[in-house]
Amino acid sequence: EREPPPSPDAVGGTAAQGALGEATGAALLRRHAVARLPLRGECGTSSAARRLRAARRRAARGADASLHVLLVGEPGTLKMDVAKLILYSSERRKRPAAQLGCQQLAAFGSRTASAAREGETCEIDVGKHAARLIADVAAALAQRGGGTLLLRDVHALPAGAFGAVRRLLSAPAGYEGVRVIATASRAVPELTAGASATSEGALTTLRVPPLRVRREDIAAEAGYFLRYARGGAVGPTSVTESGLAALQAHDWPGNEAELQGVMERAVVMQSAGKVRRDKALAAGLSTAPLPPLDEAVLWPDPRARRGEQLRYDLLRGWPPLRMLMRADFWPQGLMRSVVVPAFALFNLVLLFGPQARADNAALTIFWAYWWPGILITYPLVGRLWCSFCPFMAYGDMVQRWRLNSGAALKSWPTDALDRYGGWFLFGLFALILEWEEVWLLEDHARLSSALLLLITAGAVVGSALFEKRVWCRHLCPIGGMNGIMAKLAVTEVRAERGVCSATCSSYGCYRGSDTVIPSTVASLDNSEGLVTAGCPLGVHPANLTDNADCVLCGVCIKACPHGSVQLNLRPPAIDLWTTHEPKRHEVSLLFLLLGAVFCHRLPEAAALLGVGGDVAAAVATTAQDAASSDVIATHIAVATVALAWPGLLALGGHMLGNLVDSASSTGHGSRGRGGFLTEA
Ligand code: SF4
Ligand code: SF4
Ligand code: SF4
Repeated sequence: EREPPPSPDAVGGTAAQGALGEATGAALLRRHAVARLPLRGECGTSSAARRLRAARRRAARGADASLHVLLVGEPGTLKMDVAKLILYSSERRKRPAAQLGCQQLAAFGSRTASAAREGETCEIDVGKHAARLIADVAAALAQRGGGTLLLRDVHALPAGAFGAVRRLLSAPAGYEGVRVIATASRAVPELTAGASATSEGALTTLRVPPLRVRREDIAAEAGYFLRYARGGAVGPTSVTESGLAALQAHDWPGNEAELQGVMERAVVMQSAGKVRRDKALAAGLSTAPLPPLDEAVLWPDPRARRGEQLRYDLLRGWPPLRMLMRADFWPQGLMRSVVVPAFALFNLVLLFGPQARADNAALTIFWAYWWPGILITYPLVGRLWCSFCPFMAYGDMVQRWRLNSGAALKSWPTDALDRYGGWFLFGLFALILEWEEVWLLEDHARLSSALLLLITAGAVVGSALFEKRVWCRHLCPIGGMNGIMAKLAVTEVRAERGVCSATCSSYGCYRGSDTVIPSTVASLDNSEGLVTAGCPLGVHPANLTDNADCVLCGVCIKACPHGSVQLNLRPPAIDLWTTHEPKRHEVSLLFLLLGAVFCHRLPEAAALLGVGGDVAAAVATTAQDAASSDVIATHIAVATVALAWPGLLALGGHMLGNLVDSASSTGHGSRGRGGFLTEA
């Protein structure tokens, strides 16, 4: 909406001389016509929204209908939509209307700009030009028996033009006059000084509240923008609970305009190419709504993450690593050619080899090397183990076979997984720990193999039924532990949100792509966006706030055509003091792991506590050697207590602290403020 060079009539100030030609007036009104859409009011039922709605209705048809209107609100609050709504729901909606963008008027040129027109050079005073244009448009409206002039961002007018607007505001805004509806991102004393809302021809000011003070309206606003972004296409129709929680947790410095951008991007990411509903029906395609938008596609904050400057991108600093991460071998080739056969052999040795620990090398490797080995890797490479894990190598194999045979895999039930997935893996981990303790798995090869095969079965069933790696993201107990520990790592995969928001329309890192996406970055080669199925864990690298859901598989590095994805070296555990948000099941799992230390040392603990008799005998006896089921039951009960007590002790301490705080003189000590989750 750049302002074109002024017409000779406008520059000549014909309006000021009272002689605006009919044709010139009509041309001016055509050039500055008001686009009828969008027409949206304030969504939601918050008190701020209700107040604005009432004021808007008063300004349209009520007591303030004969006053000029100034809408003041932060940038992005879509004030012009409210202004149009006032216009089109008022009596004068059938009268002529015009719209001027004041920022464009100010940007038209510098105070002494030169414009070459027909071989001549003329000096233009921008303030004077803007004032004359406003006066001419108002005169054209007046010549047609009155109308409405919408002024966008009136605070940005050149200083010399405020007089023209003040003159309009001092005239009555009655039905036959020219009514001004202006928007501004700040108070405009240049216009309002001396104006009174009681006199005829005066101004009424409506405050448009920022989105952050209307958090309860965010669901309604998001729903509106989702419908708007989807248009007539088949696409998602709702937002998951976790997605909504992420939207509500954000401060929205860009207000509704930012939310609109987030919803539009999320619809593009979730919909594999927009297909219009009518076309889908004609082509016999499914018109069922796509799965709800979840947290992974709703990443509102385009600002830099805290601690960003403390990162060093290894992919840029060491190009061979980039080549390695983009190679076919990593990790699919490794899984297919090495991990799958090695795991099969490993299990055969466990199942059919010698059963005693001393004689079975596989059993020793599993318990004495693999298990502590992955613990040691957490601080360095986080969940890297999960990128070539044998359990999922089989899950992957089965999923590929299902897809090749034409099966349609289901979308994830994201809401249910967000709510119960963490507790499922917590429960499964607790059962495994008890099984390990009471049946002494580390000394029994077949049972150890059964444990491995049980987890493999979960991965296979999850991958056979659902798309991507639902087991790894939400349900695997080992994955849950790996996710927590990965938060300590000195490496991370992240994407530059600015690049993703500003330049990407393919979102190949998340959605995947059937074709190579050419690179837009000169320094990268043209086959940058490789063919992939997108992030196997269904996360977007720009949306990661910690390492829990990233397995460093490098799929996003392969898929991104814009070189946005980074493999960063960072201070250890930086997530924990910057972007991390504690989750209940993760805190519970941590206490469970602490309990496991005691659970696996029950005989020593019993001796230390002076517990003797049947209990001491039971905890020293494995299920295989137990003389009766009572012994096994006692062992299980004591193991359960050992697993639970660290968490229960911490919770009890927290509650006691709260009691002390509430009994103290201030009534809100440090414990009460943080909550158990944060404290833990
Ligand atoms: S989450 Fe579990 S199944 Fe998935 S890769 Fe990690 S350990 Fe393997
Ligand atoms: S990471 Fe790359 S592919 Fe993904 S959204 Fe950002 S720019 Fe696009
Ligand atoms: S974010 Fe990237 S590296 Fe992490 S799991 Fe997803 S695709 Fe793999």
